[in-house]
Amino acid sequence: MAAREKKLVGINIVEGKGLGKAYFVGRAVRQDSVVSISRQDIGNHIMLFNEIREKAKSDYRAYVKSFDGTSAFDTSILNVYEHILDDPAFIGQVVETISIKLFDLETSIRLVSSDFIKRFSAAGTSYFKERSSDMVEICEKLISYIHKDGDRKKSFIEPTVLVVLRAFTPSDILRYDKEKIKGVVSVHGGKTSHAAILARSYSIPVVSGIHNISEHIRPGDQLYVDADKATVYIRPAGSVISRFHEAEKKTVDLGKTLRKKWNRPVYTKDGIQIEVMANISLPEDVAQANNNGADGIGLVRTEYLLSNKKEFPSENTQVEFYRAILKGVGKKECVIRMMDIGGDKIPEFFEMPVEYNPFMGWRAIRILLERRDLFETQLRAIMVAGEKHNYKVMFPMVTTLMEWLEAKKIVKSVSKKLGLKIPECGVLFEVPLAILEMETFMKEIEFASIGTNDLLQYLSAADRNNPKVNYLYTPIEPAFLKILKTAIDVCKDNGKSISICGEMAGNPIYTVLLVGLGLKRFSVIPKNIPIIKEIISNISFMEAAESASHLPAIESSAGISRWIGRVNKRMAGEILEKIPLFE
Ligand code: PEP
Ligand code: MG
Repeated sequence: MAAREKKLVGINIVEGKGLGKAYFVGRAVRQDSVVSISRQDIGNHIMLFNEIREKAKSDYRAYVKSFDGTSAFDTSILNVYEHILDDPAFIGQVVETISIKLFDLETSIRLVSSDFIKRFSAAGTSYFKERSSDMVEICEKLISYIHKDGDRKKSFIEPTVLVVLRAFTPSDILRYDKEKIKGVVSVHGGKTSHAAILARSYSIPVVSGIHNISEHIRPGDQLYVDADKATVYIRPAGSVISRFHEAEKKTVDLGKTLRKKWNRPVYTKDGIQIEVMANISLPEDVAQANNNGADGIGLVRTEYLLSNKKEFPSENTQVEFYRAILKGVGKKECVIRMMDIGGDKIPEFFEMPVEYNPFMGWRAIRILLERRDLFETQLRAIMVAGEKHNYKVMFPMVTTLMEWLEAKKIVKSVSKKLGLKIPECGVLFEVPLAILEMETFMKEIEFASIGTNDLLQYLSAADRNNPKVNYLYTPIEPAFLKILKTAIDVCKDNGKSISICGEMAGNPIYTVLLVGLGLKRFSVIPKNIPIIKEIISNISFMEAAESASHLPAIESSAGISRWIGRVNKRMAGEILEKIPLFE
């Protein structure tokens, strides 16, 4: 008899619904095929096994060291991993499988781990049940060392839900052919983590905060991820599946209608043009931006060029990357952001110091100013590719004017050496010190954008990746809105364009609010462009501004939330009712 449906509730990270077969990232316990070896190869496979066990142990040790004594993270779990890696039974069985059954190392690790996992899961005590997820982690880790196959994307035959037994990261998505990924279930992850941003832009729903995953989910189980309800259904009932297909059809139909309608600029009812541009990460995203009617590209997150790479891409590779993007964008404007390396985006090959607080550490422009070689190579590549295009260059994480002036000097000298025109340069305001000093930047920059994702985490002292403090990470805190309003006004008074490219701008709930604050340029995930344009076309700029003039009197985010509910209903009620909203 088929096992019954089971429901797990976690935290909604990326809105949406999806259905697919459970796939444990790292393929730890999935048995795709069995690979045999010849007798002469036995020694090599055993040697490789010893090497990767040592590597895993030293990586775990380094990880333990990176936590100081005050961390809430219980590092004893990492010691358990080390014990498993040294466990004579585990080692003995893998070696025996290689040398007697003549299976390759990966097959042997999978077979033995599956066997351990089954035995642990069947044990009565919770202690042993927990060891089963430790075993999955170990197996996943060892197999990832065997596969140093970097660039190659893996694809799936059927719709798949990724199951991640740790915090979910951007490479969890980029490593696979994303067409088939219908959802992600993970242990940790915040709503504006870079992994969540990627998932959102590819319409992949994510639920995190699900603990003891491997106790409940087995590889290959059918999973229905309803992120709007923060729920994961394991082996969903037929009625749940048919409701999903109905809802999916409605969303697809609405999307089609709006995409067709909004392949053109949008104006408010009183005739003010509002640009709705796209945020992208890869050349292949440009087509999605165009299909959704983007008025240009407001943010290219160029650091994704480094994903799944074994070394820093050459200047020529970079030129090709920017050319492919700019060609797709055509005559429209394209804002290319210099690489924002660091925080939760660390390329595998990049030597980073151990940092206690990576988001406040060596990141973005701080790295670029120290590593002039990387800075100049990227800039040259952008300028060469952009020679005949309408592009601008944006710098992430600028904190002080001094930093900015230093960066500009480098831009000037690179332009001079290349004999090319100096590109228009702007600042991504995402560090409190910089946005509070925006007026001073005005005479030195050509344009501004606000990175609400980081700005909010630095202002609220709430990590954007940490669901535990997510209740503090809200863009509708009165003080945050005051800062946004002042920034928009400063740019207006100085005749500089300003956009918002953080996730806040892409959430249709906030469209009326942001237009009310005077924002005329949005940069958002491509799939939300049509709905945001539809809302804009239904509101009056003046009326939104008049309503927003009452905001300073509201003292709490709860009050602002009620205000948003009221104005959205009044100005965009009909259209907002048709889409599943997500906050
Ligand atoms: C931001 O911080 O809002 C932003 C746009 O940059 P990222 O999300 O890439 O850090
Ligand atoms: Mg940022």
